[in-house]
Amino acid sequence: MSIYFKCPVAARCGGCQMTKLPYQEQLRVKQRRMEELLRPFCPVEPIRGMSSPLHYRNKVHAVLSVDKSGRPISGVYAAGTHRVVPVKHCLIEDQRADQIIRSIVELLPKFRLRIYNEYTHRGFLRHIVIRTGQFTGQIMVVLVTTSLEFPGKKEFVQALVQLHPEITTIVVNENNRQTSVVLGNRENVLYGSGYMEDELCGKRFRISPRSFYQVNAQQAEVLYETAIDLMGLTGKETLLDAYCGTGTIGLCASDKAARLIGVELNADAVKDARINAEANQVHNASFYCDDAGRFMTRMAREGHVPDVVCMDPPRSGSDVPFLTAVKSLAPKKIVYVSCGPDTLARDLDFLCRDGQYKVLTAVPVDMFPCTEHIETVVSLSRVSR
Ligand code: SAH
Repeated sequence: MSIYFKCPVAARCGGCQMTKLPYQEQLRVKQRRMEELLRPFCPVEPIRGMSSPLHYRNKVHAVLSVDKSGRPISGVYAAGTHRVVPVKHCLIEDQRADQIIRSIVELLPKFRLRIYNEYTHRGFLRHIVIRTGQFTGQIMVVLVTTSLEFPGKKEFVQALVQLHPEITTIVVNENNRQTSVVLGNRENVLYGSGYMEDELCGKRFRISPRSFYQVNAQQAEVLYETAIDLMGLTGKETLLDAYCGTGTIGLCASDKAARLIGVELNADAVKDARINAEANQVHNASFYCDDAGRFMTRMAREGHVPDVVCMDPPRSGSDVPFLTAVKSLAPKKIVYVSCGPDTLARDLDFLCRDGQYKVLTAVPVDMFPCTEHIETVVSLSRVSR
C-alpha cells in the first residue's frame, strides 16, 4: 500500500521537494539515484524506508516575521528567498513542536516582545528552535534573540510552561549578528536543565542546543545499526568515530569494541559526548575536540592505527587532509556515513583511486522522507597486497 501526502503549503514553502510522489515512489527515486551515482564503486542494497513517514522531524526551526497588519507570524523562508511563508501545520515536523510555536507566537503581543526585522536589524525575537526527544518525550525550546536581556522572562516562561507542561527546558540564545546562521554563541537557561535527552539503540544521549542530533531519531537507530553491522566488530578493535557529534554512533558501538576514540569540532558536542560516555557507563571511550583532518594527521604521524574508522562528515563531505591521513593510517575497515551523495562519491573516488581500498556495499537509509536528501552508509575494506 502506498502512502500519499497532502501538504497545503508545499508549493510556497519549498522545504519538501517530493510530497507530490507517493512514498514508495520517493524511495524508488532515491534508490535509482544512489545506484547511478555509486555504479563505479559497488552494488547498492535496497533503501531502508519508514513504515510511517510523517512528523518525523524532531528539530523544528521557525523563522519569525510580521504579516501586513503587523501581527507576528512564524514559518519558513520560501525556497531561495528571505520571505517568510507562514506554516502552522507541517507534514514532517513533530506536531508537539508546531503547537508550541503557535502558542509562543500568540503570547508575543501580550509580553510586548518585538519580532526582529532583518532589514532594519531592530527587534528582539528572531527564531524559535524546538528539539524533541522521541523516546524520552523531552522538549527543548530555544528562543533566538538579539540580546540575552529578556524583558519579563519569568512571566513569559511561566505562561508558556502553563500552556505546555510537556516542555522540559527553555534556553535563550543570543544572535545579534547580521547572518543567516540561526544560533549565536551565548546562551542563558531560563527553565530546566538547558539540554534535551533522547535514547538511541538502548543508550541515553544528552543534546545541547548547539550540538548536532539526527533529525529523525527512529531512522537514526536504523542508520546506526546498519553502520555498526558493517563495522564487523569482534570486541578487540580500536574504533575511531570521526565527526562524532555527541558521540552517538561510537557509544552505540562501544560494547563491541575494545576502545573508542571520538573526534569532533564543536566543543559543546564534545562536552556532551564525554558526559554521555559517563552516563552510559562506557569506560573505554575518549573524545577529542579538534578538526578531524588535523587530528587524523597527528594520529598518522604518531603511528596510532585504529582498526576501524567510522566517518560521518557534514553534507560538504570530508577533506584532503583527513582522507590522506586515513590512507596513511590504513585501517582495515572504513564505514562512511554520508548525508551528501555527491561528496560521498567524490571522497570514495579519493579513497579508492590507487587500489588501496575497495567499496564493499552501500545501504541508503531514508532519514528525510518527502525531501530529496539521501543518507547512505558505505563500507570499505583495505585491499591486502
Ligand atoms: N555522527 C554524529 C554527528 C554527525 S553530523 C551523529 O550521528 O549524531 C557531522 C558532525 O561533524 C557535526 O557534529 C559537526 O559539528 C562535525 N564537524 C564538522 N566539521 C568538522 C571538522 N572539520 N572536524 C570535526 N568535526 C566536524
